Amino acid sequence: MESLYRKYRPQTFGDVVGQSHVVSTLEHAVLEGRVSHAYLFCGPRGTGKTTMARILAKSLLCDMGKDHLPDGTCEQCLAVAEGNHPDVYELDAASRTGVDSVREEIINSVGYAPVRGRSKIYIIDEVHMLTTQAFNALLKTLEEPPEHVVFVMCTTDPQMIPETILSRVQRFDFKSIGQEDIRNHLSYICEKEGFEYNDEALDLVVRHARGGMRDALSSLEQLSVFGNGAITLEDTLDMLGVSSSTQMHEIAMGIAERNGARLFELIDELINNGADLLHFTRQLCVHMRNVYVYLVAQDNKALLDTIVEDKQEIAEEVAAQVMEYSKELMDVANAARQRDNVPVVSEDNEENETEINTAIYEAESPQVSLADDVTILDIDPDSEDF
Ligand SMILES: [Zn+2]
Repeated sequence: MESLYRKYRPQTFGDVVGQSHVVSTLEHAVLEGRVSHAYLFCGPRGTGKTTMARILAKSLLCDMGKDHLPDGTCEQCLAVAEGNHPDVYELDAASRTGVDSVREEIINSVGYAPVRGRSKIYIIDEVHMLTTQAFNALLKTLEEPPEHVVFVMCTTDPQMIPETILSRVQRFDFKSIGQEDIRNHLSYICEKEGFEYNDEALDLVVRHARGGMRDALSSLEQLSVFGNGAITLEDTLDMLGVSSSTQMHEIAMGIAERNGARLFELIDELINNGADLLHFTRQLCVHMRNVYVYLVAQDNKALLDTIVEDKQEIAEEVAAQVMEYSKELMDVANAARQRDNVPVVSEDNEENETEINTAIYEAESPQVSLADDVTILDIDPDSEDF
């Protein structure tokens, strides 16, 4: 079965979900014949960098001709989409062979005319992984690029790219895709595929994906296979190891009321259900941040609508002054995050359990002023490393 990610991959600029700032700038460049020789697409994984690179390649090769947006349906566009157009070179710098082939391709083939189309497009994925020699080869080409060549470099780590390269590229920063955009796309796919879905389950998938469409689609796919075409809340909680908002509310209230016994019970439940505790601490931090935002921005309806799932519950937590105890939770979450940089996957549940229990114990007794909690506003729940 073709994966949902492949099947619903955007084929034209118009299909792209989110990244409107990138889409509109590139569309103008194509229509006005001002496509640059080198682009750098930066951003978190799964936000559509390679997909955008392919669409740009189509713009340069499409049978619609120069200065037109690609149709996504002609022979050239289809070949690009399939990854077998002779004038589009896709290289993955993260693989061992990738580094060699980048050097070889660049040194050996960049000077030759395109095979079929008007341009040759080099898409280099994870470009920050290139060796110094490979970067040097690339730099030579970027200094005097042949007329027909366009480079699109993609990376999750722009800070690892040499300054000399950065100064010669047009840079685009891809953002995490908004929750509403992901949700709309998922429900569209569910309808197309005939999946039945539970609303709350879909929301969990969206939140778990943290702005990455690829992750969202792969969760959706697994759930649909598992549930035989039905996305149920129970399966979703099971598979993603996430805690429902009710659980989060109970935990917040337990902290506010200093109900240690209840908190240990709740953590026990999480563990027995096989929850990923690192992921749980992340969720708890995001939740605490939302409580704080609610506290300081109650009048801003638009803001609250995007962050707060259940205002009634959050209001109760604010009234119970759960924020008094949030600093300890933030500290332990940071510690857990630093020890385990691999997102979502936590192999050491036992150690996390001890830390969470310690944090909760500490959270029961401290006197932290609200002013100290301002630090939590620095936390961006959409950021890749959170
Ligand atoms: Zn076309």
